[in-house]
Amino acid sequence: MIYHMTINGRARRAASVFEVANPAGGIVGEAPAATLDDLNDAVEAASDAFVSWSRRPDSELREACEAVTQKIGEHAEELAQIITLEQGKPLNGLGSRWEMAGAEAWAAHTSGLSLPVKTLQDDNEGRVELHRKPIGVAGSITPWNFPVLIAVWHILPALRTGNTIVIKPSPYTPLATLRLVEIMNEVLPAGVVNAISGEDATFNLGAAISEHPGVRKIVFTGSCATGEKIMASAATTMKRLTLELGGNDAGVVLPDVDPAAIAEGLFWGAFINNGQTCAAMKRLYVHEDVHDEVCAALVDFARTIPMGNGLDENSVLGPVQNRAQFDKVKRLVDDARQRGRVLLGGEPGNGLFFPPTIVAELDNGDPLVDEEQFGPALPVIRYRDLDEAIAAANDSKNGLGGSVWTSDIERGRAIARDMQCGSVWVNKHGAIQPNAPFGGVKSSGLGVEFGEEGLAEYTDMQVVFS
Ligand code: NAD
Repeated sequence: MIYHMTINGRARRAASVFEVANPAGGIVGEAPAATLDDLNDAVEAASDAFVSWSRRPDSELREACEAVTQKIGEHAEELAQIITLEQGKPLNGLGSRWEMAGAEAWAAHTSGLSLPVKTLQDDNEGRVELHRKPIGVAGSITPWNFPVLIAVWHILPALRTGNTIVIKPSPYTPLATLRLVEIMNEVLPAGVVNAISGEDATFNLGAAISEHPGVRKIVFTGSCATGEKIMASAATTMKRLTLELGGNDAGVVLPDVDPAAIAEGLFWGAFINNGQTCAAMKRLYVHEDVHDEVCAALVDFARTIPMGNGLDENSVLGPVQNRAQFDKVKRLVDDARQRGRVLLGGEPGNGLFFPPTIVAELDNGDPLVDEEQFGPALPVIRYRDLDEAIAAANDSKNGLGGSVWTSDIERGRAIARDMQCGSVWVNKHGAIQPNAPFGGVKSSGLGVEFGEEGLAEYTDMQVVFS
C-alpha cells in the first residue's frame, strides 16, 4: 500500500519513502518522505489557492465543506481499514469505524457553523462592525492516535473560515491522512488542502512547517514537549497557534457510588484506544470506603474485553501503536509494581499487545501517577479526604480533562468546578461533542477546538469603523 503526497491538487511522488508498520505485526506499506522543496511547493500552492478561496462567499465555503463531509462518509469503510492497519485499533468497538463516524459528524457540524459579522454600534455617530478574516496558510501537525478524526478537526474549520492548509500526519500513521486528503481533493480546488509526510529521524518536517515563513497559523495536536518547541519557533513569525497537548486526567470516585454501575464507564474512560487518548483517564482516586469494590468491579468488567488483531471483527482492543510507547508503558508498570499491587494485567503479550493493567496502592509521586503513560495502564490511588483527593488531582502540570463519580449529580457538578482542567465530566470521562469547545489549561495547551470558539481560532479580527 502506498499513498502519495497531494500538492496543488496533484499526487506528488517522493524522492524517497519510509516503511509504515502494522502494530499487530508486519508492514502496511510505504509513505513519502517529503523534502524541504516539497514543503515549499505545498506552502506555495496553499498561498496561491488562498487568494481566491479566502474571497469565496460564506455560503460557498459551507457548500464545499458539505461536499467534503459527503466524501468522508462515502469513504468511511476504506479509511477505517487503513486506520486499523497502521494504527492498530480494532474496526469495531470504540475503534476505527467509530473514529470515522466521529470524523463525519464533526465535519458535518463544522460545515454548518458560521461567524457572522457582528455590528457593535449602528447609530447617528456611525457604524462599527467586527469581521472575522481568514489568516492564510495553516500548517497542521497531527499525532498517531486518531489519524483521521484529528485531521478532520484541523482541516474542516480551516476550510470553513477561508484558510488553506498543509497537513503533516505522524510518521507512525501517515497513510489514512494521505488518502483522506486525496479524497477531499476530488471536490476542492487545487491547493486548498495539501498533504505531505515525513519521517522525523531523517528530516523533521513538523519543525520545518512550524518555522516556515509562509505558514501563518499552526494547529498542532501532540505531546507537551513538541508543543513547547512549536511555540518557541512560531514566535519569530508571530504565527497564530492552537495547541492541543498531553493530559494526565484524574477521575475522582466518591464513597456514594454503586461500583458495579460505574465499572464500564470507568473502564472505557481509561482504556479507550488502549489509553492512547489525550483525554483518557490516566489516574483514578477512589475513596477508601468503596476502594476495594470499585477495583473489583473494574477488573471484572475489564476481563470481558477481547483483545486481538484489529481486523478481527471480534477484537475490541488492539495492540499498542508503536514500540516506543509500548516500552514506556512497560517501564512505568515495572516501576509501579515495586510499590503498588497489580490487580490486572501487567505482563506484556506477543508483539505490541499489552493487556489492560490496573495497579492499586499508588500515590502522587509515583511515575505511573505523575507521568502521562498514554497507554493501557491505570494507577489507582486510595483516598480518605475529598479535599485532599481534589488537591492531588490538581497537582499536575496538565489540565486537559477530569471526572467526578457520584450518585449525587448536583454534588458532582459542584466538585467539577474545583478541578483545574478544560473539560470535566460527571459519571463519565472523555466524552466530547462538536459544539462544545475542547482544550487544555496549564501545560495541556493553548486555545480550543470545536464550536464557534474553535472556529474563531482560524480567524483574525478586523473592526471596521465607518
Ligand atoms: P508527538 O508530539 O511526538 O508528535 C506529534 C506530531 O508532531 C507528529 O506529527 C510529529 O512528527 C510532529 N513533530 C515531532 N517533532 C516536532 C517538532 N520539533 N516540531 C513540530 N512537529 C514535530 O506526539 P505523539 O506521540 O504523536 O502523540 C501523543 C501525544 O499527543 C500525547 O501526549 C497526547 O496526550 C497528545 N494528544 C493530545 C490531544 C489533545 O487534543 N490535547 C489529542 C491527541 C493526542
